[in-house]
Amino acid sequence: MEFKVKPIPSSSQPITYEADLCIGCNRCVQVCQCDVLFPGEKTPIVMYPGECYYCGACVMVCPVKGAIKLTHPLMNQARFIPIDDDHQS
Ligand code: SF4
Ligand code: SF4
Repeated sequence: MEFKVKPIPSSSQPITYEADLCIGCNRCVQVCQCDVLFPGEKTPIVMYPGECYYCGACVMVCPVKGAIKLTHPLMNQARFIPIDDDHQS
C-alpha cells in the first residue's frame, strides 16, 4: 500500500497573506481571540503562530476574497473512511 502526502506548512505557518490583495483593514487582527495577529505595514503580522487554534474567524471576517489563507495542520486534514466489511479480516 502506498501513501502519498504533500508536505505543507501548518503549525509554523497557519496564516498566510496575499499582499497584493490585502487592503490592511486589520479586521482579521481585531477578531482573533488569541492575539495571534498584529497590525503590520502592508499586511498584518502573524506574531504568535503557535497560539492559533484554527477557528477560521480571521478568514471569515476578511472582506477581500483570497487576501488571507488558513492552513490546517496535516493531522486535522485526515478523513476517516468507513471500512468495507469485505476487507476487515
Ligand atoms: S484562525 Fe482563529 S486563532 Fe488562528 S489567527 Fe485566525 S482568528 Fe486567530
Ligand atoms: S481582514 Fe483581510 S483585507 Fe483586512 S487586513 Fe486582514 S487579510 Fe487584509
